[in-house]
Amino acid sequence: MAPLQLAKKICLLGDLAVGKTSLVRRFVIDKFEDTYLTTIGVKITKKELLLNLGKPEPQVAMKLMLWDIAGHHTFSNVKTAYYRGSDGALIVCDLTRQVTLANVAEWCRTLKQVSGDRPMILLANKSDLTKQFQYGQEEVEATCKKLGITYLLTSAKSGKNVELAFRMLSKLIVNDHNESMGK
Ligand code: GDP
Ligand code: MG
Repeated sequence: MAPLQLAKKICLLGDLAVGKTSLVRRFVIDKFEDTYLTTIGVKITKKELLLNLGKPEPQVAMKLMLWDIAGHHTFSNVKTAYYRGSDGALIVCDLTRQVTLANVAEWCRTLKQVSGDRPMILLANKSDLTKQFQYGQEEVEATCKKLGITYLLTSAKSGKNVELAFRMLSKLIVNDHNESMGK
């Protein structure tokens, strides 16, 4: 049987310089750069992914549109328009800066306001910089518990959990899709 084909929009959210662009780059072309490239406006990258949902379920061919958006969580109407119609989101925080974790709730709230209840995963990024951590897994866990979302510790630099993050979110999106189709 030919795999089910789904095209879905995923937004990357989180404070400036937490690693959103680097995570997309690692996932899509498997590369990392130390230099900071400012994201201007919005960058949309396409990536195809074959999901194996295990036996009786068929395979799903996902066409992901990854929306990498620059800016702060207090956005203008123009920015919120980018979030509209998003099927899921990766919220990113930086393990070396406490404030980026504190802002996660606000990112989460804004997305919910614009797109409704969609699958979300928190990525605590830069897990390779252990000596510079300003908080640990316990704090990440506490934040996620409050928000009712799951998390992964990632590193765009080493690649740790990056592919897994996009796959996990894609699976949540497929479940959401199936539920809305009444399956
Ligand atoms: P964005 O503003 O959220 O898109 O952040 P960027 O992806 O541009 O990354 C900001 C800076 O952090 C850049 O200098 C990246 O090289 C660096 N960076 C991103 N992810 C990681 C990571 O996992 N580990 C380390 N060591 N540096 C990272
Ligand atoms: Mg960026």
